[in-house]
Amino acid sequence: MTTFSVIGTPIGNLEDITLRALKVLAAADLVLCEDTRTTRKLLEKYDIKTKTLSYHVHSNQNRSKEIITLLKEGKNLALVSDAGTPGISDPGIELVGQIRRELEAEIKDGSIKIEVIPGPSALPAALSIAGVSASQFTFLGFLPHKKGRETLFKEIAFSKRTMVFYESSHRIMKTLDSLNIHNNGSDSLTSKKVTVCRELTKIYEEVVSGSALVVKEYFEKNSDKVRGEFVVIVEAFLRQGYEGQA
Ligand code: SAM
Repeated sequence: MTTFSVIGTPIGNLEDITLRALKVLAAADLVLCEDTRTTRKLLEKYDIKTKTLSYHVHSNQNRSKEIITLLKEGKNLALVSDAGTPGISDPGIELVGQIRRELEAEIKDGSIKIEVIPGPSALPAALSIAGVSASQFTFLGFLPHKKGRETLFKEIAFSKRTMVFYESSHRIMKTLDSLNIHNNGSDSLTSKKVTVCRELTKIYEEVVSGSALVVKEYFEKNSDKVRGEFVVIVEAFLRQGYEGQA
């Protein structure tokens, strides 16, 4: 049987990798990665000699066809992204979809298998340490830079579900500003708790929470911390008398 393995890899700390991931990466014929230099660092740490091939957002149809041909030839392939879980705000979804469509017969007869080797992702990592009710939440990925951005902030301000999104160091201050404007309308009940999880699993891992204004002021005072990678969590909107769980 030929296997296409989708593997979760560390989001900062290279020790956050499963035994199964290491085994599969070592045994694969080829590792498909976003940036071969980034993945090489991980492979070298564990003395894994498997060859790499780039597969990223700008990969064209020829690369996808090449990958499908390799699977048809019986090559075991592993797909990773630079960090975390492929397909979660990272490339992978289209490729997996294409393999499922084009190799449907082989998948059905069991000669090709798509398997998951679960691992880290910044989304659950942030939710697990934020201390914010998230029995129900909406994940927005990266917010749009222009079209639909303002509408989304309004939606976040009034959402009855916890909202989570990814943010970069370049935009975090602008985003906190928008959250502050939208979360603090004339009705004081709309002021929501914002939690920013920064540099998870790395040396400067940090969780900052409070109103959007408090969090913004914290980063203004500590401008050296406006760097690295961020997950933003905005708690659910709970009206007075609204007893529902987020
Ligand atoms: N596939 C990844 C995952 O499963 O989490 C996400 C990749 S996405 C291109 C990168 C974004 O994820 C960053 O801009 C940041 O918002 C978030 N992220 C990744 N690693 C992180 C970390 N160590 N701490 C906080 N956020 C992180």
